[in-house]
Amino acid sequence: MKRKRIALVAHDNRKRDLIEWVEWNWKILVLHDLVCTGTTGQLVEAALRRKANDTDGITVNVAKLKSGPLGGDQQLGAYIADSKIDIVIFLWDPMEPQPHDVDVKALLRICVLYNVPTACNRSTADFLISSPLMNDEYNPIQADYSGYINRHLS
Ligand code: PGA
Repeated sequence: MKRKRIALVAHDNRKRDLIEWVEWNWKILVLHDLVCTGTTGQLVEAALRRKANDTDGITVNVAKLKSGPLGGDQQLGAYIADSKIDIVIFLWDPMEPQPHDVDVKALLRICVLYNVPTACNRSTADFLISSPLMNDEYNPIQADYSGYINRHLS
């Protein structure tokens, strides 16, 4: 199995959904490196600890960034730009505007830019976590931006 770096983020109205999904998939998730925005990370860690409670030899370790509205989404975007994230599960809220809507948009943009597998709802998250590619090395193809980088400006 190839250990993946999985980012988990949920807006407040989607946190219950994410935690249910985490509880359902905890045996797979504990085998990977998890990175979350602050509040999501606390809930994810608590859920995984509850589940892994009696299971010998399982360490639950969730890296927590800042809370999303306080810069966590941007920190995660920087991780993605540095190729430090393999999968993003981002349950954003389609019914409520967020104080950090621009950061949400930026995070989704950077996921597309770097061709990172990204789930924004539970069904896509189910498909991702059950993909045979979870067990393999997988390097997403990167678009060639050299034309842009070397563009002539003057
Ligand atoms: P939170 O942030 O996990 O700190 O609630 C989520 C977000 O709004 O991006």
